[in-house]
Amino acid sequence: MSNHLSDAIRDAIPAGNAVFIETGDGRSWTYGAMLRCSGRMAGALRGLGVVPGDRVAVQVEKSAEALMLYLACIRSGAVYLPLNTAYTLAELDYFIGDAEPRLVVATPQAADGIKAVASNHGASVETLDDHGCGSLMDISRDQSPDFPDIARAADDLAAILYTSGTTGRSKGAMLTHDNLLSNALTLRACWQFTADDRLIHALPIFHTHGLFVATNVILMSGASMFLLPKFDPAEILSLMPRATTMMGVPTFYVRLLQNEGLTRDAARGMRLFISGSAPLLADTHRAFQERTGHAILERYGMTETNMNTSNPYDGERIAGTVGFPLPGVAVRVTHPETGAMLPADATGMIEVKGPNVFKGYWRMPEKTKAEFRDDGFFITGDLGKIDAGGYVHIVGRSKDLVISGGYNIYPKEVETEIDQLPGVMESAVIGVAHPDFGEGVTAVVVRQSGADIDEKAILDALQDRLARYKQPKRIIFVDDLPRNTMGKVQKNVLREQYGNLYA
Ligand code: ATP
Ligand code: MG
Repeated sequence: MSNHLSDAIRDAIPAGNAVFIETGDGRSWTYGAMLRCSGRMAGALRGLGVVPGDRVAVQVEKSAEALMLYLACIRSGAVYLPLNTAYTLAELDYFIGDAEPRLVVATPQAADGIKAVASNHGASVETLDDHGCGSLMDISRDQSPDFPDIARAADDLAAILYTSGTTGRSKGAMLTHDNLLSNALTLRACWQFTADDRLIHALPIFHTHGLFVATNVILMSGASMFLLPKFDPAEILSLMPRATTMMGVPTFYVRLLQNEGLTRDAARGMRLFISGSAPLLADTHRAFQERTGHAILERYGMTETNMNTSNPYDGERIAGTVGFPLPGVAVRVTHPETGAMLPADATGMIEVKGPNVFKGYWRMPEKTKAEFRDDGFFITGDLGKIDAGGYVHIVGRSKDLVISGGYNIYPKEVETEIDQLPGVMESAVIGVAHPDFGEGVTAVVVRQSGADIDEKAILDALQDRLARYKQPKRIIFVDDLPRNTMGKVQKNVLREQYGNLYA
């Protein structure tokens, strides 16, 4: 019987004893071992009463077995639902109540607490730890390694992935077998992955970046990856001579640059560094190229759409842009209110359409309807433009747009000016309630270490660079910007923190 995603994974397996995963603690899984392990786990799921279409919620530490569980869900027709390991019991109550999984897989430490929450919503709980032990593995061990995959069509659900919750409460994005497969095949071709690639994987696997972009591209290439529990610059530098590629969030690159071990020599064997999930500062891009000779390839995607655009593999990778629409993906920029198409270089709402775009938000038909145009384009909520050369630029999220005195101000434009000033490391510009202007443009700035640039110096420097209405009313200095696990700046946290600034 045919299982859309699993069949493609099987077809991509190279001949021989090719390795799929190596872990930091020296264990490794061949593709054959992957099939046997995921087959046993799929049998365990069936034994636990999971039927096709059932959700399996998973909140576990990163491990090879956790990825095998993802594959077991695909093979058994279940819907994989990974959850951020940082979520508290109260948050889990929301996710489990919303998704109504048949089964929740938790770490042994968290299982007791989760059992109470899960049983309220009719779910049972099994455990999996980061060394491949736990009750789920005990059940799996008795199963046959040859699980006959359950038939699944291109349009059947493969996963529900909750968004990062950067702009509000996380929403469950329903992703089909073909959403995942089509995007993995496209990225494999664009980024020229082959069975010879070895990927440094230090991302979390509850998010689209580490789970789908990284893992599915490796699977579709028959390549292998170093699966690391967390981002540790020294460990990454020591692996580089054996690796060919890395995928990371911008913070990875910032932190690698802080390490003296990052040199042209250290990165000699690497062919590609990819960045995404949050904007990569142009400065980071330049500094990385100077140090290593590699131009980081930045791409743009979201939980709901997988990847939409990418800088070229061959061709100019332009810092501060997210490159061209991927083959098969249509990207357009529209007027945020009227939906009318905008010309090149005009900033507006980014909309996308293609086989990568999700089926809708889980149990939110109204929201789903509101986020799609009649002709099938998904309204991303990101503002940006497409320049005359076809490169897509992201200028920020529509929810972060500042409206002051009736004018629209794009935070990125102000941030770019501030970031260029000597002594400034980075900045975040937000709108804060203001009695006269509606919102007051407010800049939260991190100084470079040892720098003493102050509010007046920044405001003075901006006088001739930005129209008056774009100039910040106040500059606030902080040691670090608040970021979530994917390295995204949490502007809602800043807005809350400084909400009374002009009161
Ligand atoms: P929520 O939708 O719950 O508020 P989120 O949008 O942060 O959270 P994700 O789906 O993880 O959840 O992130 C997608 C968003 O990340 C995109 O809409 C975009 O704003 C941002 N993003 C991803 N890649 C890039 C990039 N290369 N440059 C700038 N922004 C990016
Ligand atoms: Mg989002």
